[in-house]
Amino acid sequence: MDFPTRFDVIVVGGGHAGTEAALAAARMGVKTLLLTHNIETLGQMSCNPAIGGIGKSHLVKEIDALDGAMALATDKAGIQFRTLNSRKGPAVRATRAQADRILYKAAVREMLENQENLWLFQQSCEDLIVEDGAARGVITQSGIQFRGKTVVLTTGTFLGGLIHVGMQNYSGGRAGDPASIGLAQKLRELPFRIDRLKTGTPPRIDARSVDFSVMQAQPGDDITPVMSYLGHRGLHPQQINCFITHTNERTHDIIRAGMDRSPMYSGVIEGIGPRYCPSIEDKIVRFADKDSHQVFIEPEGLTTHELYPNGVSTSLPFDVQLELIRSMKGMENAHITRPGYAIEYDYFNPQDLKYSLETKHMEGLFFAGQINGTTGYEEAGAQGLLAGMNAALQAQGKEAWTPRRDEAYLGVLVDDLITMGTKEPYRMFTSRAEYRLILREDNADMRLTEKGHEVGLISEERWAAFCKKREAIELETQRMKSSWIVPNTPEAEAINPKLETPISHEYSLLDLLKRPGVEYADVAHLKNAPETPVDEQVSEQVQISVKYAGYITRQADDIERMRRQENTALPEDLDYTKIDGLSNEVKQKLQEARPATLAAASRIQGVTPAAVSLLLVHLKKRA
Ligand code: FAD
Repeated sequence: MDFPTRFDVIVVGGGHAGTEAALAAARMGVKTLLLTHNIETLGQMSCNPAIGGIGKSHLVKEIDALDGAMALATDKAGIQFRTLNSRKGPAVRATRAQADRILYKAAVREMLENQENLWLFQQSCEDLIVEDGAARGVITQSGIQFRGKTVVLTTGTFLGGLIHVGMQNYSGGRAGDPASIGLAQKLRELPFRIDRLKTGTPPRIDARSVDFSVMQAQPGDDITPVMSYLGHRGLHPQQINCFITHTNERTHDIIRAGMDRSPMYSGVIEGIGPRYCPSIEDKIVRFADKDSHQVFIEPEGLTTHELYPNGVSTSLPFDVQLELIRSMKGMENAHITRPGYAIEYDYFNPQDLKYSLETKHMEGLFFAGQINGTTGYEEAGAQGLLAGMNAALQAQGKEAWTPRRDEAYLGVLVDDLITMGTKEPYRMFTSRAEYRLILREDNADMRLTEKGHEVGLISEERWAAFCKKREAIELETQRMKSSWIVPNTPEAEAINPKLETPISHEYSLLDLLKRPGVEYADVAHLKNAPETPVDEQVSEQVQISVKYAGYITRQADDIERMRRQENTALPEDLDYTKIDGLSNEVKQKLQEARPATLAAASRIQGVTPAAVSLLLVHLKKRA
């Protein structure tokens, strides 16, 4: 039969992790299969139609820097773009885009269908082919066997998925899609640590039944930020407003009265939900003193009337959902198009993974996305890209690669998951990164694209654009370093009003830029200005590296110190219970996590600097 059944990399699941994984492997030139339940749902946003936000857009930019799909798809689908924290420093600045979910899916699908080396196949994966303890392929629901050198599982919330609305529950992977039951059972037979998590989504509303005139409009930025380094504003579709309404005392009374039929509060749901994205019933209980919560009314797209009421995720019974929605200002006649629900699903303890996202218990098997205990499209996409890349590297017989914590949020994400595990859905925040000033969203390409190019992830087009930008930054920095402003000249007069004290000796443009209150645009044109002004991505890099030079150098020193610990490997057979002086708690945590390096050990919660010193002493004694 002339039908391809042998691949280098097989990716199971076409969500955010799976699509990035499949694209990454195929970009690297290996023969890749993306096997998913339904081709129509490739790149589907299960919940909120938005990409980015604080911490998350950092991941999106890193995916982009490694030539992934998410940022470009967002530029093609974003119907409202905003820069968050725009008045704060560049380290915590973030980009968020409300997306048209139909355009988003279409953009992802177009990339998948046009990717060389990538085959798509629609069917459920029911089992793994295991040979000599290694994953060597998959078996579909109709018994088709696809053989692969590596397999990447990205099955999201589908493994053993159980959907709850009030006291009713039924099997499902998300509303409208079947759960993955057969595969879940097979995986439970393997020696992985599996547990249950929970997430939820709000009911959707028909915009024609909503009175926007009594709500506060929330427009996007006038000058829309761009998500991809290769993107531009011309890609952005029509931009529209979101709106804000609020819950009130009556809403809260309705919720409290329905609590006896809440699956969360009556003990039906066992899985732990996302701390930072709680359901509305959770908020009423946890913040009992608050008499109102903000609800963002977000359009789901340009060609649909459906709205996403962000902030009222719920699994209360439908009659309670309807009443609580209608109790809010502007929603008095709201028509619900889809009920809200919660879903419980299986996830794997990420401490059973290597840094490449290959499982420790089975060679050739990689896990990425929500099945590793994370939540969010961005976290899933970033892991997918990494797992797809490492699966391809393994298929090529090459060494795995994962960025370190000081190189990428992706490194922070993987290191956090592997060293600490997670008992609740993990989402990214800038506060999780200790080297925030270096891991900015504006420099993800400078941090990662070259490495991506080395492993074969980067297209010619992106590589050329990156090299051009890097050279332009260098040239512009040199120009500003060697262009001098002399006191009592027209150029000096032009800049003096911006300075606390007028210049009294020669200053280079770069030194002027260091002075407080002076921006790149104030000085760049004063001397030897290029005929065409440099691109804003270039001027931004010049400005940030000058303004924050002191902090950046200090952080680079910290990184150097940490790297020394990073290079101190902890033997795999180390028996932590036998190390004198460590508390029982620390012994137990180290024994469980088995960190690869001293630095990884130091990041485990409860492992104190004193414990790290004891470990170091112990290692020296062993040597
Ligand atoms: P998914 O996007 O779930 O994709 C999994 C893919 O695998 C699907 O295409 C599926 O069809 C396919 N698949 C599964 N099993 C098989 C199989 N056996 N064979 C073939 N294909 C298979 N995130 C937030 O950040 N905030 C939220 O508030 C939030 N709420 C959510 C609410 C709900 C109800 C759900 C379902 C998700 C929510 N999420 C939320 C999570 C967000 O949707 C996920 O983090 C993200 O989609 C995970 O991406 P993924 O690729 O890991 O999995």
